[in-house]
Amino acid sequence: MFNPTEIRKEFPVLSQQVNGQPLVFLDSAATTQKPIAVIEAMNDFYKNHYSSVKRGAYSLSAKTTQKFEDARAKIASFIDAESENSIVFTKGATEGINLVAWSYGLSNFEEGDEILLSVLEHHANIVPWQLVGKEKKAKIKVFPCDDNGDLQISELPNLLSEKTKVVSLTHTANSIGTVNPLSEIIPIIRKLAPKAKILIDAAQGAPHSKISVKSMDCDFLVFSGHKIYGPTGIGVLYGKKELLQRMPPWQGGGEMIDEVSFEKTTFASTPARFEAGTPPIAEVLGLSAAIDWLNGVGMENIIKHEHQITDYALHSVRALPATQIIGNPKNRGAIISFIVKSENRGSDIHPHDIAMILDENGIAMRAGHHCAQPAMQRLGVQATLRASFAVYTVPWEIDRLCQSLKRAARIFG
Ligand code: PLP
Repeated sequence: MFNPTEIRKEFPVLSQQVNGQPLVFLDSAATTQKPIAVIEAMNDFYKNHYSSVKRGAYSLSAKTTQKFEDARAKIASFIDAESENSIVFTKGATEGINLVAWSYGLSNFEEGDEILLSVLEHHANIVPWQLVGKEKKAKIKVFPCDDNGDLQISELPNLLSEKTKVVSLTHTANSIGTVNPLSEIIPIIRKLAPKAKILIDAAQGAPHSKISVKSMDCDFLVFSGHKIYGPTGIGVLYGKKELLQRMPPWQGGGEMIDEVSFEKTTFASTPARFEAGTPPIAEVLGLSAAIDWLNGVGMENIIKHEHQITDYALHSVRALPATQIIGNPKNRGAIISFIVKSENRGSDIHPHDIAMILDENGIAMRAGHHCAQPAMQRLGVQATLRASFAVYTVPWEIDRLCQSLKRAARIFG
């Protein structure tokens, strides 16, 4: 039986007091807490099996290499990829996007080419394209959203053409929670921009939904380990195998080569060619344990629970007199974004001031632009408070948030 109160007990961080009150952790979109199974898998590696991968001819290293490659296969199956060779280990979603931009983009863009990004993107899915686009004189086009924060699909015919070389879109907007209708959008891109490669930023999607890169029909997909109950310092880039195989390396070093001489170097096949240097081994094993843990809980249970808790939070926060929810997307992930108005001053109370009061009450919540300044600007705010949820979020945390928001409104109102 799925029981979030029991699940919370598996997360040591959640049992502490902060400022004299039980911690309320509502910042899972920034990073999730870690279940004991993940912490112990990493400890076990350091305590009992520590060795490098690939290089050792000895048993310890051979075993670690096996576990490391098993993790790759597990992740391939987790996102329904055709082969483990489509899975490249990166430092996180940010590095995955940079890899595609600096490898695929740099070697394929020509002057006048176009890159389509949505206005809802995290800066991690904007800035790498700007850097490479500038280098290659490729132009960025912006897929707009409406006042609710839903992408305006009817605009796609005006934005896509033979010139579009990359479309890079988020699965779920980290700022306001919009879940994009990718099964509707991707076929349109395929039809109107036949030369475009499609990258999906699943940093906020993979922890909260079933991902199938096959049925989605994307060319690339990225996510971060630390947002999916795994450690920091590890992420995943999925790429269609034949595409990765044609892409040049973006970083050079050990383990990514076939043969090296001062005259000429030849490169290993994918994924090794994109994994220069000693990889983050403990982190890969931690991510592997996180996927096992998540599969054990069951993604259907997580999805159902997070829908319920997000609905509860939305209704509770909406019912407070001074709050205003930002964005009202048709399909919402486990995120709500809002501002609090001052009744007397007739203006907004700065989200950082509210966050300070929340912290005094033991509530960990993000305030700011959430690394999505274009989205904030489009929705007419500079910053918001963002409550984001996970498998361990429970209703009393939302009740505590609401009490504390009332207190903050009284103090600043
Ligand atoms: N994309 C989205 C939608 C995100 O929410 C984030 C992080 O918040 C990132 C990319 C970047 O992830 P990371 O910092 O783990 O690389």
